[in-house]
Amino acid sequence: MISVRDTRSQELYARALQYLPGGVNSPVRAMRAIGRRNPLFVERGEGAELIDVDGNTFVDWVCSWGPLILGHAEPGVLDAVEEAARAGTTFGAPTAGEVELAEEVSRRIPGVEMLRMTSSGTEAAMSAIRLARAATGREKLLKFAGAYHGHVDGLLAQAGSGLATQAIPSSPGVPAAATAATVVVPWNDAEALVRATGEHEFAALLAEPFPANMGLVPPEAGFLELLRERASATGALLVFDEVISGFRVAGGGVQELTGVLPDLTILGKVLGGGLPAAAFGGSRELMELIAPAGDVYHGGTLSGNPVAVAAGLATLAQLDEQAYLRLHATTAALADGLREAAGTVPVEVSFATGLLTVFFSDEPVRDYEGARRCDLDRYGAWCRQLLARGVYPPPSQFEAWFPSLAHTAEHVERTLEAAHAAFAEVA
Ligand SMILES: *Cc1c(COP(=O)(O)O)cnc(C)c1O
Repeated sequence: MISVRDTRSQELYARALQYLPGGVNSPVRAMRAIGRRNPLFVERGEGAELIDVDGNTFVDWVCSWGPLILGHAEPGVLDAVEEAARAGTTFGAPTAGEVELAEEVSRRIPGVEMLRMTSSGTEAAMSAIRLARAATGREKLLKFAGAYHGHVDGLLAQAGSGLATQAIPSSPGVPAAATAATVVVPWNDAEALVRATGEHEFAALLAEPFPANMGLVPPEAGFLELLRERASATGALLVFDEVISGFRVAGGGVQELTGVLPDLTILGKVLGGGLPAAAFGGSRELMELIAPAGDVYHGGTLSGNPVAVAAGLATLAQLDEQAYLRLHATTAALADGLREAAGTVPVEVSFATGLLTVFFSDEPVRDYEGARRCDLDRYGAWCRQLLARGVYPPPSQFEAWFPSLAHTAEHVERTLEAAHAAFAEVA
């Protein structure tokens, strides 16, 4: 086993454990899913690389879990952020930037005519649900097993046992009443979807159209179309959570790629260009139910924050057709190379432009149960080997790799070399 310097990060981790639960501010950062490793403490990022506090350099395939489609410290984004910050970091009053960003988003995302900005994807999901419930006069929600929509009480839900359709909380502290109106259905299961939408009157059918929080598990042919059809036929709103996929798999997200249009769209991550910004949007008719146009409440001290908006605009400005072709080529090269590097280790690599997952499985993964059946211990051992060789993969198989425009052929090459050696170690 190659060893990396970790004196300073050991020391920081010990201190962090005294003051931050688990030493972190979001659980996956603790890297517990891959076992026997301390978190990475970051000193700085440069393009597609991270340098930790001990001076180790990593090719970064996490890129802050999705926002950094241009890579770290991109000069155009930094200039925009600096200029915005110098003019004042927050006003709690409208600015030109938020109007420009709203126009730009609505130009790109087919299902968004109008939008409301928030500070996090969680908040956008929470408010989109409130809007769907207000618009339909219904309370029930359908979500898919393995999909993540932020830490909203009603969506921290898992399927109940046996024939119970009512979901149960997936975290202590979530009241049973909060998930009682949620029904959880297996992804890609047409029969279960048709059954559930026949049995319940839903306010919203919620989906990550390219789910990437159980690893990337794309929809099977016709599944998104079926979702659209069931929503329309039953009077439910179709809500696409494109917090990851929006501006990543294509300029207009999965809805542009597939032509399946939701009633409401949740956006985040790339939208804020590395600063906290998210949004939910849809038709003018639905969005004008939001206060003060209508009376569905949503507000936020830092909503539409001028610095975050500047970072978002500067990021979107670089995302043209050429950029997506390049991002696709990088992702495809990585996917092909990883499949080849695996040798005798059974893996299934799934990818879409800017998203990729290596499942340690000998059969294609089509739902959450399939993702859970993978050899997660071996995935963890493989990740530790990659980290020891200067490559930072998502330290959980339930998270996607996030290639960026800063990743070059050389980064892919370096990664594949490390992956080759890492597969050999775990074969
Ligand atoms: C990250 C994520 C969220 C939550 O966004 P936060 O900004 O972390 O609150 C919601 N939905 C999806 C699909 C996500 O990946």
